[in-house]
Amino acid sequence: MIEISHLQKNFGDNEVLKNISLTIPSQQVVAVIGPSGSGKSTFLRCINGLEAITGGTVNVNGHVIDPQAQRKELQKEVHAIRQETGMVFQQFNLYPHKTVVENVMEALLIVKKMKKDEAYKIASDLLSKVGLAEKKESYPSQLSGGQQQRVAIARALAMEPKLMLFDEPTSALDPELVGEVLKVMKDLAEEGMTMVIVTHEMKFAKEVADRIIFMADGVIVEDANPVEFFEHPQTERAQKFLQQVS
Ligand code: ADP
Ligand code: MG
Repeated sequence: MIEISHLQKNFGDNEVLKNISLTIPSQQVVAVIGPSGSGKSTFLRCINGLEAITGGTVNVNGHVIDPQAQRKELQKEVHAIRQETGMVFQQFNLYPHKTVVENVMEALLIVKKMKKDEAYKIASDLLSKVGLAEKKESYPSQLSGGQQQRVAIARALAMEPKLMLFDEPTSALDPELVGEVLKVMKDLAEEGMTMVIVTHEMKFAKEVADRIIFMADGVIVEDANPVEFFEHPQTERAQKFLQQVS
């Protein structure tokens, strides 16, 4: 599903991602963890073309981001990746003046040019799936943070993505609301969605992820299954990180 080869990303003189290579098969759930500033968000944003990459290539489901390619070709590939990738951020970014169901319908109407009643039906089903059937006609401001984030997940799923990227989806939530969002993500994982999740929720990563990528200073320091990583971290860097977060 994802094949990253010698990925490099600079912001000016700042080398943020240094020669990262990684293959993620379909249906794998990958948790990306590591200290703040290590490049985790940038890494996710490079996967779906939100950041232009400096070097290497990113291949998502056969669509290739290659900075050497012609501009037009590159744009076409990035567009194709965006169509097939859902992304959920720490901040939910819902449209405040649209109802919950309208937020989920938006991409169906605009991008997929769907008829209104058809989009409404799909959006309603997705809202049921994330446990928000009764909130369809509410406005985002009337919802808790956990509910808003579940709407954001439903909205991302509306495009029927082949891949879901999550960037600290529970970091802005009050502790008692974290569980309901993680539950929705766990359900998605169990349905076989391919997922890359940047998270500080170590218990969730341990339980739900198939694989842990530990990043520090723009490189992958460890790449292991959760049991190996959490019980026998190989590097001093990871050992120290785990002591700090536990
Ligand atoms: P993480 O998500 O692991 O906390 P980030 O990917 O957000 O790390 O940031 C990694 C590094 O890249 C940091 O040094 C940050 O300052 C830098 N960075 C991120 N985004 C930008 C940007 N748009 N412009 C310049 N520097 C950036
Ligand atoms: Mg980040």
